[in-house]
Amino acid sequence: MPRKTFTEEELKAKLTPQQYEVTQHAGTEPAFTGIYNSTKEKGVYRCIVCDEPLFSSDTKYESGSGWPSFWQPIEPGKVELHEDRSYGMVRTEVNCASCGAHLGHVFPDGPRPTGERYCMNSASLNLEPMDK
Ligand SMILES: [Zn+2]
Repeated sequence: MPRKTFTEEELKAKLTPQQYEVTQHAGTEPAFTGIYNSTKEKGVYRCIVCDEPLFSSDTKYESGSGWPSFWQPIEPGKVELHEDRSYGMVRTEVNCASCGAHLGHVFPDGPRPTGERYCMNSASLNLEPMDK
């Protein structure tokens, strides 16, 4: 599937400055500040940039990290993983597979059944409530 691309002008018109910084420059919103950190509403979390469905509320859990956390993506292949050696750490960066937007990182300390913690930025996501 060809990657969705957007011009800088399109992105700046569509996104808030924080959403732009997080998704395009691999920024991180401060812990416990994101709008979806403790959201329990049912629905589908879509990419803020390209609107692809990325995570379901069914796999969201309270990790205590200060960021919305999921134990798996909505479908395999919806996200891409890359090794990230920035800030003197080795982490795994998670990007939207459709547009390349930075979403967050995945860590191997999540709950069963996957044992993974997809630690996402609220700024990268847009929750579409289920009963809409
Ligand atoms: Zn995307």
